[in-house]
Amino acid sequence: MPQRASVMTGPRRPLEIRDFDDPELGPGETWLEIEASEVCGTDVHLFHGRLAGVPWPIIPGHVSVGRVRETRGPGVDATGRPLAEGDTVTFFDVVGTCHRCFHCSAARQPNLCPHRRVYGITFSALEGLFGGWATSMRLTADTSIFKLPEGLETADVIGGGCGLFTGFGAVERSELRPGDTVVVQGSGPVGLAAAAFARVRGCGVLVVIGDPDERLDLATAMGADVTLSVSRTSGPDRSARVADLTEGRGADVVIEASGNPAAIPEGFALLRDGGTYVVAGHYTDVGPVSINPHLDINRKHATVKGRWGTELPHVSRALNLLARHRLPFARVIGGEYGLEETNRALADVERLAVTKAIIVASRDRATQAEGAGRG
Ligand SMILES: [Zn+2]
Ligand SMILES: [Zn+2]
Repeated sequence: MPQRASVMTGPRRPLEIRDFDDPELGPGETWLEIEASEVCGTDVHLFHGRLAGVPWPIIPGHVSVGRVRETRGPGVDATGRPLAEGDTVTFFDVVGTCHRCFHCSAARQPNLCPHRRVYGITFSALEGLFGGWATSMRLTADTSIFKLPEGLETADVIGGGCGLFTGFGAVERSELRPGDTVVVQGSGPVGLAAAAFARVRGCGVLVVIGDPDERLDLATAMGADVTLSVSRTSGPDRSARVADLTEGRGADVVIEASGNPAAIPEGFALLRDGGTYVVAGHYTDVGPVSINPHLDINRKHATVKGRWGTELPHVSRALNLLARHRLPFARVIGGEYGLEETNRALADVERLAVTKAIIVASRDRATQAEGAGRG
């Protein structure tokens, strides 16, 4: 049976369905039948042409869950568990890290390797099935595959999607200590994951700032003690509330996951003297904002950190915590879309109609069958 994929041919051009041959596996490679992929904020930015160097046309979809159809790999997953045909797996969406460049070797920051490639973003559809908005994917020999831990369903993982690993990475980078007061700016998938993992790591009071109400309810489900609507409160209201919760000091840790430049000066205002600010929401360039270096950084004795890219250990450890603490990410899924509905999925994510939209290729067959039934 030929494979199908939803292909993004260029910025702001409607996605189209294209047929592909079955993957022909080389040594070490794996053929995955995709059960679900996700729409993340990056896909919306891709659609609007806000990422540089995209090898159009592409098959979007970086984080995905699927069933192993065939594998010519080592027979174990990235954690050493036996891996066989029929297993349900996810995978680290970054491949091609060179292990030799300055960042890989001397600096030990492989997330900055210039050779790394990301499924669904930096592979062209002309190279084959290397994105998740498809019936199948071909995973290269250097792909780190993870069998879903016991008790985890596809929806638990894909409901978090890539935000799960970005949020995990942001919390890790904050080095938050048990009992620390944490403010998360943003209640999208990255903010929800940052909140969930901050809670699991043992934070004290946890505040999430965001919108709309449905997302704030999810933040509460992830462990937030206080949620503040960004539209119904002012910046000074939010500062006063965080000051109330911290004897006037401000939060020990602030994690920016909103992608809004205006969040940055507010984040500094919410941070206590000597606190740590992690900026993880600005994956695309949405413009500058002014801060006061004296007040916000120098005098505040602030630690300010960026967080670029997911690293392999984030995936394995986030999956472990997801399973162990039964974090309710399946609830984040707001809508399922077939390959023929990806344009609508992108539009719904952009206007915040759903928190997490997932792409389920098998829905097309179901929809067609329903149509035939009605006919
Ligand atoms: Zn490298
Ligand atoms: Zn993403």
